Amino acid sequence: MQGIEEVKSVLATPKNILITSHRNPDGDAIGSSLAMARWLENKGHRVMVAFPSEYPATYQWMPGINGVEIFDVDSSALDDFSQHIEVSVILDYNSLSRIDKMSKYIENDRLYTILIDHHLYPDPIGDFILSDTTASSTCELVYRFIEGFDQKPLGDTDIAACLYTGILTDTGSFQYSTSPALFRTVATLQELGIDTSLIHDRIFNTLNEKNLRLLGHCFVNRMEVLDEYKTGIIFLNKHDYQVYDIQRGDTEGIVNYLLKLENVKLAIFIRQQPTIIKISFRSKGDFSVEEIAKNYFNGGGHRNASGGFTKSSLSATLDQIKTILPRYKEQLNKSIL
Ligand code: 5GP
Ligand code: MN
Repeated sequence: MQGIEEVKSVLATPKNILITSHRNPDGDAIGSSLAMARWLENKGHRVMVAFPSEYPATYQWMPGINGVEIFDVDSSALDDFSQHIEVSVILDYNSLSRIDKMSKYIENDRLYTILIDHHLYPDPIGDFILSDTTASSTCELVYRFIEGFDQKPLGDTDIAACLYTGILTDTGSFQYSTSPALFRTVATLQELGIDTSLIHDRIFNTLNEKNLRLLGHCFVNRMEVLDEYKTGIIFLNKHDYQVYDIQRGDTEGIVNYLLKLENVKLAIFIRQQPTIIKISFRSKGDFSVEEIAKNYFNGGGHRNASGGFTKSSLSATLDQIKTILPRYKEQLNKSIL
């Protein structure tokens, strides 16, 4: 692994290390951050993990999660720790815009920066960069990093549980982005004694009644299927947020249901949040949603899973999407599943 010797020399003595991941952290962002934190702490470093915004409650069981700082909630511990940071670890994002104001803590030439990520078009940030856009997840890459660094298999079950979480969630429970190498990694994680069924249950089978009713509402009242464009759209407005008491994480995964429709290749999920409209895109096969997210909605991500936002109104956003879709009509109709 190129540059790993330099990382080894930096980490040869105890350091103050800040680990950051992106806004609205998902299983991969959280899993990779907590795994890295535990691994660095085991080596005697002083570590803080910080996310710009809160994480979904489904990850509350994860080892080490209670020590995470949330910038939006309270930045005081971060303000203090930032005086002493020597190493910055950037996980599951590759552009400082993904952490908004929190970038002030790590935009500092004095810091040794390690970036590990699998998103497309990485910005050239980091003294050590492990960026592989073909990897399933940042957790898969963190495993590769740890193995390359230690030159022996991982030996910690908590780290294994964290890494498995990110792999599980970023592959849609092993539906996509899998590879023989990934399954070998997963085999090693399972050999460490993690309970894969329990992890699956904790993440995917913890809905409350309200969540399931919201799902019903989405399908019955807020879903549009545009056969001509092989596209499904679900939107939620401000009123829905109140009626269904939608909290962070409650809308997680809703976009994927649209892909259950045989004829849908493009899934779009639009949420009217207090100050912005947030949009999630998913696709099947070779149709890339990354381009739409990047070109029209200030976003990005991966070929089959991207996100973005706009400051327009909800109705203007729906209209905009309907003007964009004809440009992709041919591609959507010919793309292979
Ligand atoms: P989600 O739709 O689950 O929020 O995000 C799907 C993917 O798109 C994730 O990999 C996420 O990192 C990326 N993504 C979501 N929102 C944004 C955004 O506003 N900007 C960029 N660059 N990527 C995003
Ligand atoms: Mn990821």
